[in-house]
Amino acid sequence: MKAIQYHGNKDIRLEEIPLPNIQNTEVLIKIDYCGLCATDIEEYLYGPNSIKKTPMTPGHELVGTVENIGKSVTNITPGQRVVIDGIISCQKCLACTKGLNNQCTERGTVGFSHNGGFAEYLIWPAEQAFSLPDSVSTESAALIEPASVACHAIELAKIQPNETVCIIGAGTLGLLAAQIAKIKTSKVIAIDTREISLQLAKNLGITQTIDVKNKDMHEELKTLTEGKMPEVIIETAGGPTALKSSIENVKSGGRIIMVAVQGQDLKVPVDTIVNKELQLIGTGGYRTHNVKEAINLLEKKQLITDCLISGYINLEEVISDGYNKMMSKEKNIFRLLVDPHNKHQNLNK
Ligand SMILES: [Zn+2]
Ligand SMILES: [Zn+2]
Repeated sequence: MKAIQYHGNKDIRLEEIPLPNIQNTEVLIKIDYCGLCATDIEEYLYGPNSIKKTPMTPGHELVGTVENIGKSVTNITPGQRVVIDGIISCQKCLACTKGLNNQCTERGTVGFSHNGGFAEYLIWPAEQAFSLPDSVSTESAALIEPASVACHAIELAKIQPNETVCIIGAGTLGLLAAQIAKIKTSKVIAIDTREISLQLAKNLGITQTIDVKNKDMHEELKTLTEGKMPEVIIETAGGPTALKSSIENVKSGGRIIMVAVQGQDLKVPVDTIVNKELQLIGTGGYRTHNVKEAINLLEKKQLITDCLISGYINLEEVISDGYNKMMSKEKNIFRLLVDPHNKHQNLNK
């Protein structure tokens, strides 16, 4: 089969690789779509960091159709559309027995330690494949993985109905988290420098936005919260200033949910954290139940993901139109979906 292979820093190639045999407990998934994410770009530019061995097929935001099942598989049948829990954990350690499978020290992740979705097919444990309801489109399901990450972040935020939640960074994750926060409280504010992101936030029902390219974040937050400031800040932007302004702008006693991976050590106002008695909560990946929650939210139309799809590319275009576009400075892209079987192009013919 055709698959993108990561060989090392700035070295990815489209290659022909053998399709492994399917084991009794596994399913063979024909990949429909797989999203290209900022993490993939970080691995390309600065990795291998999360990629554990090379060559590796990247791609962790996937949806596909089951083509074959192992002898002992009973939960999935061929022809079903599925998304996966992409984290493989030992199921034995303390973290696993508490349901914290994303904290398992033995864990592996699709696209980083196990071949991922930038390929024609994927073999995965059947227990970790979940079928999609008919009402959820295959395209919108390609964003269930980042939506699961957003569900996990909002879960850790423990938002109360009357609290104000501020999302710093209205990219894909920020806009997913904003929609899920909106289910918990009516007071959600989205902050970004990009007009296109803030417009999209408004289209998704996040009416309060701050354009920090032209406006002062502190003053605007003060006005929007009538001087109270937000109890919760979800930091998805990354970079040296986002965490610092989260600490400065959150209400005393408030929570900062750190979603962005920084890739560097940051200088932050530590005494402000102490004096304001802030809680800084890191959130990494998702847990199995978050995947089911994300499917459920899409089914109930409480979460809209279609508008975050910026385009479709085939495997031949992954490098030229995928990685290169994602790295360009002027990028106004949310998710590009890799379409290994030209499904989308064929649909539009
Ligand atoms: Zn991702
Ligand atoms: Zn474990």
